[in-house]
Amino acid sequence: MNKITPEILKEFERAQKAYPHIFTEQRKAAFFNSNSPIHANLCSIYKRVIPYWSTIKTLVELEQQRVSILGKKGELTAILRGMSELSDEERPNAGEGANIARETLQEVIAARQEELGREALAAKLATETIDVTLPGVAPVQGHKHPMSIVLDEVIDIFLGMGFSVAEGPHVELTRYVFDALNTLPSHPARDIQDTFYIKDAPIEEHTGLPSVLLRTQTSSVQIRTMEEQSPPLRIISPGRVFRRDEVDATHTPNFTQIEGLVVDKDVTMADLIGTLNTLMKRIYGEETKTRFRPHYFPYTEPSAEVDISCYMCGGKGCSICKQEGWIELLGAGMVHPKVLRECGIDPDIYSGFAFGIGLERLVLGRYQIDDIRLLFDNDMRFLRQFA
Ligand SMILES: [Zn+2]
Repeated sequence: MNKITPEILKEFERAQKAYPHIFTEQRKAAFFNSNSPIHANLCSIYKRVIPYWSTIKTLVELEQQRVSILGKKGELTAILRGMSELSDEERPNAGEGANIARETLQEVIAARQEELGREALAAKLATETIDVTLPGVAPVQGHKHPMSIVLDEVIDIFLGMGFSVAEGPHVELTRYVFDALNTLPSHPARDIQDTFYIKDAPIEEHTGLPSVLLRTQTSSVQIRTMEEQSPPLRIISPGRVFRRDEVDATHTPNFTQIEGLVVDKDVTMADLIGTLNTLMKRIYGEETKTRFRPHYFPYTEPSAEVDISCYMCGGKGCSICKQEGWIELLGAGMVHPKVLRECGIDPDIYSGFAFGIGLERLVLGRYQIDDIRLLFDNDMRFLRQFA
């Protein structure tokens, strides 16, 4: 006779919601299989056990219940013992039902034990840690600086295009900043007015200036990479650079550059344009256009200055782009054959492109910030906006 009442069925379904991995559909079928000769006995156990998850509130109570059902003199233990009295036809069906019942009980008891244990610990901690005589300390949740937000995003974009990140020293030999980059001693970038030289370093004959300086660009990392590794190369080198400059809304003697370098067979200007277009669209939106204007850099040939369509007005002209519709953003070009040769790479076999972007400029544009000093002041009233 079927002893399942609508109440037990309802309890089972509630328990199923709380522990779907314990009260499974398969077990439900076994529980409610009224053909089993021990069905009636199991039903009386189920009636008590299924609502465990909501009715039992203490570990002591749970243990009492466990002993009364699974203990030596427990109800289910007695049923299992009685199996030997069943006929050969009855036994498999009954055995299966009883085993499923035992597994289910053990699991639900273990799950409830863990929950009650956790609750007890939490309650204990809550009562023990409150010392009302101490002033409270609210935890401060930190967040990334806007520079880090944009840098991480740029790194992510380049990693997606197969680049890796390379780093190098801030204090550098002139060879890595100027000489290997085809920058002649007469070039204005080398001027003592523009560069922080290390006073005590040995003086170089060909320039009459110290041979050690704070790097003025992260191209030094490109040279180091080309010296140490063989093509194909695909790197970006983000990092601080230093130039003598008066501090104002758009200038600072210490800023952050992200340079990129690709050297491989058959690298062309089209690869450079494609790479930079991808970057700009990802940062400023799909509709962003780029414009390449011829320019001169000692280390690239041909060289270009790269503008993007104004992110404020979309190219119509506004105060941000000074009515131009375009914003000058970075320099780029094909790596000069002399630079490749200087690093031991054969320019007849390999070609490459390079570019350099100021991270600050990307950040100012992205968030429409009009003063670069805000990025260095560490004024929390400003920085909290980026939480
Ligand atoms: Zn504009």
